This record gives sequence, C-alpha cells and structure tokens, in this order.
Amino acid sequence: METVSAYFGSLVFDDRVMKASLSADVYRSLKKTIDEGAKLDIGVANAVADAMKDWAVEHGATHYTHWFQPLTGITAEKHDSFISPSPDGGVIMEFSGKELIKGEPDASSFPSGGLRATFEARGYTAWDPTSYAFIKGKTLCIPTAFCSYGGEALDKKTPLLRSMEALNKQALRILRLFGNEDVKCVRTSVGPEQEYFLIPKEMYDQRPDLRFTGRTLFGAKSPKGQEMDDHYFGVIKPRVAAYMEDLNRELWKLGILAKTEHNEVAPAQHELAPIYSTTNIATDHNQLTMEMMQKIASRHDLVCLLHEKPFAGVNGSGKHNNWSMATDTGVNLLSPGETPYENAQFLLFLCAVIKAVDDYQDLLRLSVATAGNDHRLGANEAPPAVVSIFLGDELNAVLEAIENNTPYNGTQKTQMKLGVDVLPKFNRDTTDRNRTSPFAFTGNKFEFRMLGSSNSIACANIMLNSAVAESLKIYADRLEGAEDFETALHEMIRKTIHDHKRIIFNGNGYNDSWIEEATQKRGLLNYRTTPDCMPHLLDEKNVKMLTAQGVYSKAELESRCEIMLENYCKTVLIEANTMIDMAQTQIAPAVEAYTAELARSAASKKALVPSLACAFESERVEKLSSLVDAIAEQTQKLTDAVSDVYQAENTLAQAELIRDCVLPQMDALRAPCDEAETLTAKKYWPFPTYGDLLFGVR
Ligand code: ADP
Ligand code: MG
Repeated sequence: METVSAYFGSLVFDDRVMKASLSADVYRSLKKTIDEGAKLDIGVANAVADAMKDWAVEHGATHYTHWFQPLTGITAEKHDSFISPSPDGGVIMEFSGKELIKGEPDASSFPSGGLRATFEARGYTAWDPTSYAFIKGKTLCIPTAFCSYGGEALDKKTPLLRSMEALNKQALRILRLFGNEDVKCVRTSVGPEQEYFLIPKEMYDQRPDLRFTGRTLFGAKSPKGQEMDDHYFGVIKPRVAAYMEDLNRELWKLGILAKTEHNEVAPAQHELAPIYSTTNIATDHNQLTMEMMQKIASRHDLVCLLHEKPFAGVNGSGKHNNWSMATDTGVNLLSPGETPYENAQFLLFLCAVIKAVDDYQDLLRLSVATAGNDHRLGANEAPPAVVSIFLGDELNAVLEAIENNTPYNGTQKTQMKLGVDVLPKFNRDTTDRNRTSPFAFTGNKFEFRMLGSSNSIACANIMLNSAVAESLKIYADRLEGAEDFETALHEMIRKTIHDHKRIIFNGNGYNDSWIEEATQKRGLLNYRTTPDCMPHLLDEKNVKMLTAQGVYSKAELESRCEIMLENYCKTVLIEANTMIDMAQTQIAPAVEAYTAELARSAASKKALVPSLACAFESERVEKLSSLVDAIAEQTQKLTDAVSDVYQAENTLAQAELIRDCVLPQMDALRAPCDEAETLTAKKYWPFPTYGDLLFGVR
C-alpha cells in the first residue's frame, strides 16, 4: 500500500518538482517571482513552461487550461491541447512561456455587471505563480487571474491578491515601528472548515428541486430530525467513510492539506477541515475541494450538496473561515506574545481587527450574502446577520483594564501599569467554545463563521484583509508621526477599545434579546437579506476605503453589486419556477390521484354495504380536495409574483420584490403541499421524502 507521504502532492508542480526539473538559474528567478513578486522574463517563462509541460505529459496530461474564478463564484476552465503539428505529419507536444503567462478566453459569456459595456469585451487570464499548477484528469491547470483589457478585474482572485498586498504593506509599516527589520512580508492565512450533505444519487435524481436549485423546495418534516443530537461527531457510516477516504486521497494528491473530518449536527451532514495555508492558496484549494467533493460523491453513487439550506427544519451548511496574519519569519501576529513588548504588538494587531470589523460590519455582512445564505443567518443555527466579535473573558478583561486604566486581575493576578513595556501579560484563553458568535477570537486566530457552504472564501477575505489594512494604515500614519511612540501606542489602543467596544459581545448570539440590544442600544447593523445589504457596497465610506487600499476601482465595485443582486434574483426565480412546475405537474396530480382512489373506494364500499359511513374516506377526500384547491391558488399567486418581478425596472427593484413577495409566496405554496404530503399514501408521492433523503445513506 502506497503511503500518503509518497503520493501527497503527486499531481502538483510544486517546489520539489520545480527544484528537480529547472536549472538553478531558472529556479532562482521563479522563486523570486513567487516570493517577492519580481517580474518574470520571457526566457525564464519559456523554461518553466517547458518543464511544466514535460512533467504534465509524463503524468498523462494532454491538455492545459488557465484555471480561473469568474464572478459566478465557481471556477472556469477552457482546455487546449499541447499538440502542435510537425512537418512529418505527426505532432509534438508544445507549451510556450507566452501560453503559460497569458490566455485569452472569450470573456463575453461571463458576468461582468456592466464592466463589459464600459470597457472592452475581451478579457485575458494571467498566471498567478504564487499558486502551484496542478493536474486534474488529463489537464494541466494553471491558476490565473482574469481581467479585462482595460485592467478591470473580472474575477475573485485579482482583488484577493490586491487585498493581501494592501495588508502586507500596512502591516510591515507597523512592524518596522516595533523595530522589526527582518520581516520581508506579512501574509494572511486561512483554514476554511467546509460543511456538506451527502445523499443517495438515485433519490437526488428524482427531485427536480435538488437538481435545479440544490435544495429541497418541498418536504414535510421527517419523524426524526436532529433532535437526538446523535449525529454530531457520531460514528461515520461505512459508505460515508469510503467516500471520505477516496476524497482525502484525491485531495492529498492535489497537495490539499485535508485534515479533519466528522459528522455534523444534521443527519447526513458532514464537515471537512484542511490545515490552514496562505489565503490565496487556501481559496484555490477550497474551490478545488468543493469540486472534488461533488465529483468523488458521484463515484460512490452519492450526491454532495453544498447548498446553505438544503433541508428545512435541520441545520444548514456553513463554512468557518479561520483567519490570521503571519510574518514570513513564522510569527503569528494574532498570537499573544511571551513578553509585554510582544503583547503590545499583539494588542495593536488585535485592535486593528476590532476596529476593522466595527467600521466595516456592512462589508463583512455583504461578503457572505447570497440567496442561499439568507436562509441561515439569523435562523438560530448559524450566527445572526448582526456582526459582532467574541473575545473570551480573559482578553475582554485585559481590554477593559486598559480602557479604564484599572488593574488587570487575570489568571496571573498581575497589577497592570501603564506604558508599553508593562502592558499586561496574559495567557491564551482556553475556555473559548462560543459557537454562536459570527466572529470569534480562538486563541491565535479569528473564526469568521458567517460564510455559506457554497461561498467562495475569496469575498470574505478580500473585505477582511482590506478593512484590517485600513485600520493598520490609520495606526501607522499616527504612530510614524508620534513624538513618544509608547505613549501614542498606548493611547491608540485605549481609544480603539473605547470607540469600538460596542462590537464586542461575549454572550449568546442566538438569543433574540441580543438582536434587540445590538440594534437598539449599540447601533450595530442588522441587514437580514441580500437586497438589504448589497447596495451598501457602494456607500461612500466603503468605496473610499476599497479604492484607497487599491483593492477595487469604483467601476469594479459597481459591477460586483450588480452581479450579486442579479445572482440573487436568478437563484430565487429558478426556485420559484421549479416550485410552480413541481406543484402543477407532480404534487397536485399525485394528491388528486390519491383523492380519487379514496372516493372510488368509498363509493364501491357503499355500493356493497349501503349503511357504511366511510367517515375516513369522506373526511380525507374533503381535506385533500381543499388542499389541492389551495395548492392551485397559491401556485397562481406565485406565478403572478414572478411575473411582477420581470416588470420591475432595475435589478435592485427586482431583488426587493423577490424578498418581499416571491419568497413569502414560495412559503405560502409550500405549506399546503407539505401538509398534503403527510396525508397522501406514500406510493402516490412523486419523490423521496425528507426521511428518505436524510436517512438514505447507510
Ligand atoms: P476547531 O475550531 O474545530 O477547534 P482548530 O482550531 O484546530 O479547530 O482549527 C480549525 C481550523 O483553523 C483548521 O483549518 C486550522 O488549520 C485552522 N487554523 C489553525 N490555526 C490557524 C491560523 N493561525 N490561521 C488560520 N487558520 C488556522
Ligand atoms: Mg472551528
């Protein structure tokens, strides 16, 4: 049996392969490009391309693709083969530096949210050498950024890389102020914990709602749900274990550090967490992980659902974005230090995050907003739509002591004095298990828990990096000009705590009383839905910050806002149309057929024994007939609501109509259908039930 270390990364053109296959000079220039962003000359690019091609062909590849992440939120690829005709009638396998560096897919079918109208239609892809190339099937995949010829980003990778650069620049300024001269760069790292459902494929195939929308639009509650808490961390069923084993193997071959797996709260729900890596790579890897999860599932006759809310009544799926900042010298800047001096630096970075999250609550909220995730946030299973930070008791006490200039009585019972060299020493809070906070400090990293399971993690990290870069910039501007660094630093930390403590909440985020306190007393934002939050992307303060940090241009922001709203509308309209179709062509006819059978049965019984009351049949026929009438009526209303949307004059107006009319009407149609399901003989029901779906994998 081949060991994991023997095949780990075997499909990746990683540092090991580069070192072995490139000349020393070429390797050195490439490393300079990867580590420091140095420009790559065409000679080096040609040599790298050649080595990549030889390696890929040796591993069975026949094609290459520029692998990119358009604004649709998934990945895109167009495959070109390596073949090139040779004069003797045969072919040779060729791949040039030019082809490696730049590609020109036809951009016109990707969403551009108006960018296309203003700028040029064509786009190009540009190699991102910081993320390794890899082989998928028979194709060499080259991670790339996707831009228009005017330079506007048409993808998620470009702004992510820009945001990492923005944070790097500001964090280095701060580190220099602390006298740190050796650090060359600061990068953010992310470990995304990914939740998903697994259901049997033959059941999935019978449900148009799952096939078209990824979630069930109908379905009465199963007699058993998640109430027994017997699934979380429970024994993994053999079929699921076989799937996980296969998935791990494929991920490991791709160099993805799949680490932890377990059953989640809902039946049929599971989680996979990798070991964290640099944000850019973690983002690529999470996209690949989601793709592999779905692909491997089909090998096992399963379907992997990545939707945020595939089933009503049991938990939906999210993604926890564990985030920190670290130096190239290996120091985690969110790790409390050993000495008071290190602690001062830690506290400053911590404050930068607190300030960022408070100042840009709206950006964090909208970075995770999709039609699917709207079902989770605030539904007592995921954090609320209100953004707040959990720090834990100990850190909280430290901050309070600093704010109030009072002694700090932590576990060490040390007296806190003023001045940087005597900021309190404290230990990591090990008690943290608050799972209801949207943004929790967990000892040496923050866990942003609002992401939906199908979200690209790029968006959340773009906003987080940019907002923290902005805090750090403000700090650096002030500190660089300060006469007395230590006093200025101390005052700034105090001021941040004072100005932003409203965002810190250590209680239960699932309580309704918190929402009231957050919005009424603390003035925190509560954007419940995508159309509520998305327009705020274009608020002046947000545009100002994101453009000043060099992460987005104004036009790019306008395009994103438009695309996200458009995406929301399209998603819900597909759901509504699927519901109409299922109600009309499957559910109503099924209920009708069963009702007719009951009526026939009663009639024939009465013909035999005229004195029979046939009370059951009569009552059921009456009830089911009224439900079928209700189904017909609500279907018509939904059809009308949908056609109103098409009349609306712009995307925001459409999104608002969907929020206010279509979604409530979808619930109104679902209710009689679900009730009818509980009263109809199972053999008449046209698709698998919740019980079948949630407990179908053995
Ligand atoms: P849990 O939150 O379930 O207790 P862990 O805290 O061990 O689990 O880690 C959850 C995720 O956080 C993992 O993907 C892990 O690699 C990641 N993680 C750990 N440390 C860091 C860090 N410094 N920066 C970013 N992610 C991290
Ligand atoms: Mg966690």
